[in-house]
Amino acid sequence: MTETRNDAFDVDLFVIGGGSGGVRAARIAAGYGARVQLAEEYRVGGTCVIRGCVPKKLMVYAGRFADEFEDAAGFGWEVGTPRFDWAVLKARRDAEVTRLEGIYATNLMRAGVEVVADRAVIEDPHTVRLVRSGTLVRARHILVAVGAHPVKEPLIPGAELAITSNEVFELETRPERILVVGGGYIAVEFAGVFAALGTRTTLLHRGDRLLRGFDGEIRQALGEAYAKRMDLRLDTTVHRLDRRDGAILATLSDGSELLVDQVLVATGRRPNVAGLGLEKAGIELDAAGAIPVDRFSQTVAPSIYAVGDVTNRAALTPIAIREGHAFADTVFGGKPWAVDHDLIPTAVFSTPEIGVVGHGEEVARRLHGEIDVYEARFRPMKATLSGRDERILMKVIVDRASDRVVGVHVLGHDAGEIIQAVGIAVTMGAKKADFDRTIAVHPTAGEELVTMR
Ligand code: NDP
Repeated sequence: MTETRNDAFDVDLFVIGGGSGGVRAARIAAGYGARVQLAEEYRVGGTCVIRGCVPKKLMVYAGRFADEFEDAAGFGWEVGTPRFDWAVLKARRDAEVTRLEGIYATNLMRAGVEVVADRAVIEDPHTVRLVRSGTLVRARHILVAVGAHPVKEPLIPGAELAITSNEVFELETRPERILVVGGGYIAVEFAGVFAALGTRTTLLHRGDRLLRGFDGEIRQALGEAYAKRMDLRLDTTVHRLDRRDGAILATLSDGSELLVDQVLVATGRRPNVAGLGLEKAGIELDAAGAIPVDRFSQTVAPSIYAVGDVTNRAALTPIAIREGHAFADTVFGGKPWAVDHDLIPTAVFSTPEIGVVGHGEEVARRLHGEIDVYEARFRPMKATLSGRDERILMKVIVDRASDRVVGVHVLGHDAGEIIQAVGIAVTMGAKKADFDRTIAVHPTAGEELVTMR
């Protein structure tokens, strides 16, 4: 699939979108000698850097100090009354995002990628049009890496009063009261952040448990932990939002009303395909509104590829990066490979945090039939002196026939850090016997994963 230079084209690769997937693909392709242009209409870095993972995690860190200040007393510290200043956090967080944006832009430039600050749309399988300048660019290959955007669903009366995760980062003050709608990654993470920062937080979800798709016991345990930290309302939806005395009055499906300062709707994200001109290249969207691609990220138009959230395979930054890298190696490096979307370690930065690799108990049972489930629920050592009422939950799920570990689930401190390391073992095909012969690191929480019998 290796392509060589062809001067009938202005560039070898035109990348639409300067987020995680597009930037990686552009840099790697340029490294193979391809002439690469990348168009970004907003800020280089994409959702993850500008209004996703990075600023979100900084806010998660900010929130977690609240527990630390409280817990410190049990260890002899006298902390006084902590005071949180939203404006300081916002300014410092925004500066960090701007710094990272600069690094992304510099890295692209150093790699020889020409970055165009414009919106690009497809005119035909080998042509893009820059919307502001009107310039047409002929490209041997086009990579669509335009990401996704948050949606407000269902569209209830007064929906315009609500914000999405995009606008959270623009809030100039911390709301005193917030209603968060949704039960996925984003709703759970932001509800946790606001509750920790001292906002009276209501998390409202239409289902009976948060985080559909995760292991049932992890979902249950997160719900129990969250119910202690905020007003958690399950099996409930919002019917309408109205302005009331400078605040927002939410009318809920159970007939109750809630007066809040902000409503954050986090009910999913949709691919950014509107007006992109995909139809001019014969590309039709799938049922989820995403661009269908094969395992090498190639669309039905052979010169056009797509990676990241716009393909709706697994809407995670590291996956977009991997897909972008595989695309560049395959098309420009003569080293074809495809991303394995099967075993994806992931973390939810709720408090308590969740780390997962592989299947939950329910899915594992369906896929593997006979499974063994090892489980530990315990009080973290730190809680003995802090007195905090919390439990860690860990599960190891094993395919009985092969002894292979097919799922590891952690709810508790540093679950994301723990799961990154365990993810290597599970990706390598570790068996329960391998976990068993691994020496425990004592005293840690993670040691439970190798001492479960
Ligand atoms: P998700 O798809 O994860 O969750 C959407 C939530 O909204 C679900 O709880 C869903 O309920 C609910 N919902 C959907 N439609 C409606 C509706 N009409 N009325 C009421 N509730 C509704 O989306 P997110 O926006 O949370 O996140 C998008 C993606 O971003 C994630 O899937 C993830 O891939 C990625 N992400 C990853 C992070 C990480 O790695 N830490 C952090 C943030 C985002 P139900 O379950 O019943 O369908």
